[in-house]
Amino acid sequence: MDNDSLRDRLRGTLLTPDDEGYDDARAVWNAMVDRRPAAIVRCAGVADVIAAVNAARKRGLSLSVKAGGHHVSGSALCEGGLVADLGEMKGIRVDPHTKTVRVQAGATWGELDHETQAFGLAVPGGQDPNIGVAGLTLGGGVGWLSPKYGLACDNLLSADVVTAEGTLVHASDDENSDLFWALRGGGGNLGVVTSFEFQLHDIGPEVFGGTLVYPHEKLPAVLECYREFMADAPREVRLLFGSMALPAASVYPTEMHGSRVAMLIAFYAGPAEEGEQVLEPIRDCEEPLTDTLRPRTYTGFQQAGGSEGPLRTDLRSQYLATIPETAARTILEYAAAAPSTGATVFLSPWLGAETDPASDATAYPHREPAHHLLIEARWEDPADDDDHTTWVSEFHEAMEPYTTGDVELNFLTSGENERRRRAALGENNERLRELKTQWDPDNLFSVDPVSSLE
Ligand SMILES: Cc1cc2nc3c(=O)[nH]c(=O)nc-3n(C[C@H](O)[C@H](O)[C@H](O)COP(=O)(O)OP(=O)(O)OC[C@H]3O[C@@H](n4cnc5c(N)ncnc54)[C@H](O)[C@@H]3O)c2cc1C
Repeated sequence: MDNDSLRDRLRGTLLTPDDEGYDDARAVWNAMVDRRPAAIVRCAGVADVIAAVNAARKRGLSLSVKAGGHHVSGSALCEGGLVADLGEMKGIRVDPHTKTVRVQAGATWGELDHETQAFGLAVPGGQDPNIGVAGLTLGGGVGWLSPKYGLACDNLLSADVVTAEGTLVHASDDENSDLFWALRGGGGNLGVVTSFEFQLHDIGPEVFGGTLVYPHEKLPAVLECYREFMADAPREVRLLFGSMALPAASVYPTEMHGSRVAMLIAFYAGPAEEGEQVLEPIRDCEEPLTDTLRPRTYTGFQQAGGSEGPLRTDLRSQYLATIPETAARTILEYAAAAPSTGATVFLSPWLGAETDPASDATAYPHREPAHHLLIEARWEDPADDDDHTTWVSEFHEAMEPYTTGDVELNFLTSGENERRRRAALGENNERLRELKTQWDPDNLFSVDPVSSLE
């Protein structure tokens, strides 16, 4: 590739394997991903994105897009192709009067929350402030505000997209509406989104939430509390149930750090006093070891979910329509046999505004009420790979009889079989395939979580 001519066209930087910074630039959240692109364009703006797309197309290279770099499949990176790295495109403009925000595609949720919360506003986003706004939205995107206000993609009003032809187009309900439909949960491999416009909602700055921690052997009883409470909880509530090892955080007694516990994480998307009243019954359900439920800022609550990577990561996403007792026992059995403190399992309800749209209203297909199960392991030493990947896959197989077969696109790993890859987009696969032929006939954007990356 003639790198000098591309370099001359950029305001940002071109990094090739010989350049300092190349290895940092090709790092993603999942440290198991080790791909070596021919070059990485650190885009300073839309013009650089257009230059990168044109350069890749003319040279017959594949092009991948890196925003927050958190997708566990590592689909932000292509092997031997060109990467458009959007991480420096972080412009954010809030309009408090129309309650909308336009955000460039390299911003993280923490950065977006910081700007919108200055006006007491927020977009439903992920539960970890370090995740990219772009990848999460393009794959659907669920977080604390979702039962009340829907997925991140449901709050998208419009997007600017650089197409495979290197042209900038606007996509909304009124303009390029097919493309807009696809961007809302279809994964994004039709073009490079350079900015997103979102609907904002009144939230905080003070909200009510926190964690309730229980002895691990209480896990089935705590699961029952979760199930009962969520059966008629209002849309303001998001309650997560899970098993994890307690982090060394000051909110937990030092002697409990590292010990495996059952946990409920509760959040109320409304006034803090109201949240305290609504969540009160969950406090009485079982005797917790610790209770950190209290009024706190929305940004503080979001920041608490922040994790530092890269880490080696394996996970499986599944949906359960109901949670029979045998499923609860299986969760306890595998959680108790977790290979390390980095192994977790969490259930979250899928309901309220998340399930309001029809399954073909946006490309995001999973609109039936359910519980989302996420089995996940994070670790550092490659020597521990087998222990963790075996635990994840065996746990996943043991839960399969209870699941609907659906998968979250945002949590699809690279080694998944054809059935699971199809399940990520469900009944919308066909329409997305047609749109791919229309918007990217030569498959320039060939790397995405659904394609086989092997
Ligand atoms: C620690 C952690 C916590 C998480 N928490 C949540 C959560 O609370 N809720 C949730 O829903 N998900 C969560 N996820 C999953 C997350 O939504 C996905 O990993 C998502 O893809 C991350 O977006 P990103 O921009 O960081 O990733 P990237 O890896 O940069 O991008 C993901 C995919 O989108 C494509 N893409 C990115 N930007 C663009 C663009 N501008 N135009 C076109 N294509 C693009 C990439 O090419 C890639 O295929 C979490 C993941 C991790 C690792």
